[in-house]
Amino acid sequence: MSKFVFVTGGVVSGLGKGITASSLALLLKARGYKVFMQKFDPYINVDPGTMSPFQHGEVYVTADGTETDLDLGHYERFIDEELNYTSNITTGKIYQSVIEKERKGDYLGATVQIVPHITDEIKSKIYAAASTSGADIVITEIGGTIGDIESQAFIESLRQMRNELGKENTLFVHATLVPYIYGSNELKTKPTQHSVIELRGMGIQPDLIVCRSPEELNQHLKEKISLFCSVPTENVIDSIDVKNIFWVPLNYLKQGMDELVLKQFKLPITESKIKYWQDLVNKVDNLKEEVEIALVGKYVELHDAYLSVNESLKHAGYANNVRVKVNWINSEDLEKMDSLDEVFKTTSGILVPGGFGSRGIEGKIKAINYARTHNIPFLGICLGMQLAVIEFARNVCGLPNASSTEFNEVCKDPIIDLMAEQKGIINKGGTLRLGNYDCKIKEGTLAFEDYKILEIKERHRHRYEFNNKYKELLASKGMVFSGINEKADLVEIIELKNHPHFIACQFHPEFKSRPTRPHPLFNSFIRESIKHK
Ligand code: GLN
Repeated sequence: MSKFVFVTGGVVSGLGKGITASSLALLLKARGYKVFMQKFDPYINVDPGTMSPFQHGEVYVTADGTETDLDLGHYERFIDEELNYTSNITTGKIYQSVIEKERKGDYLGATVQIVPHITDEIKSKIYAAASTSGADIVITEIGGTIGDIESQAFIESLRQMRNELGKENTLFVHATLVPYIYGSNELKTKPTQHSVIELRGMGIQPDLIVCRSPEELNQHLKEKISLFCSVPTENVIDSIDVKNIFWVPLNYLKQGMDELVLKQFKLPITESKIKYWQDLVNKVDNLKEEVEIALVGKYVELHDAYLSVNESLKHAGYANNVRVKVNWINSEDLEKMDSLDEVFKTTSGILVPGGFGSRGIEGKIKAINYARTHNIPFLGICLGMQLAVIEFARNVCGLPNASSTEFNEVCKDPIIDLMAEQKGIINKGGTLRLGNYDCKIKEGTLAFEDYKILEIKERHRHRYEFNNKYKELLASKGMVFSGINEKADLVEIIELKNHPHFIACQFHPEFKSRPTRPHPLFNSFIRESIKHK
């Protein structure tokens, strides 16, 4: 049977609870345990797919096509395991399934209530994560902060699980804040004490307390938290601010966090094979060269909207021994400019990521045009590929009215259009083309140079597609269709013949990049950008 770790947060949001959960998972995996991760999000949306990136940051997509919270990206990047539909559960999902069961008559005769029906449903999702993954240890993070109305049913379910399975099979990690107060010049433990009181009020005594603070907690402070919060002193772990999140697992390792967990679970304390991570941290901290990449998007004020793209650029930087400096460019700003020379003066590569809707697209097209005509390495992702095709059609193939039916339903040359099977769909939630699809790579192309294999699978999240009616014309002018989904005859990768490095894909490679295993498309993009510099 699996063991269960529950990670809750107190005091404030944004403490890095997701990184704490991922770091513990990484440490346990390094000791040879099979780990699986899961996040509960207390909002009513069934998934984050229908939320604005400004609200929620990026929507991360797992291989099976589940639209999830961006914390799942951290999980996959830290533990390098594929997660799935059992990994992100919202209040919306829980209620949807309970109400469906009620209508079917599964609870005939009963009054359907939060306890036990909603809490049973929540527990069933934790057990489902355990049984589908076969993990030794399942780590479940609860979104939000203790005391929020929304998360109460989740917390109650965890309390029940502790009651049913005992301390040997369940462990509570509570992540809190220990702020530094200027004036009195000291770290304060009171918010942590209050947060633990709140948690206890809901019937949960934490086993480990992880304290985010600007500096290490001294023994005296750890003893104080131990006394007030009823945990042994060594179970108070500090989590100091770091300039590079890869340090977090190493700081926890130093304090024996993984050993404390294994001890409570009565699991053998095996050797930690963590050297690969230490090497990575070392490398990242000692990068000397820098390369500047322009990321042209419309949600650039909130970097979290492009979290995985940003991480993927960094990963490719590590592999190429450079620090990637991202120049965040709001595409709408480019629309009014006569010349882009000044904007791209220090740019070594231009990336246009995914996006939805018509705002800012002309600015992105202008940036793509600049990359194409100035031989600047270019990587286009999803909407970025669609716009690269539109730019080429308009400016090279003599189709000035080329566009996507997403922006203009009646455009003269709908070079990007809805797939036939999308045309009848009315519901917006969960109906995009999502998750893994096959792609066949053409030999003798940039894509083949990158992947070095003929069959790949990549993750998708889009509704519109390249319109094959225009394929011949574009090919005759130098566009290469180097990746195709043969089953549905869909264009997956395009590139240009007469350009040093111009490549774009309909899928999202950023979801598959890992710190020690950069994605091939990002890897070559950074490599060529360094050359261009
Ligand atoms: N808006 C485009 C589509 O739906 C692109 C989506 C994306 O970039 N993820 O096809």
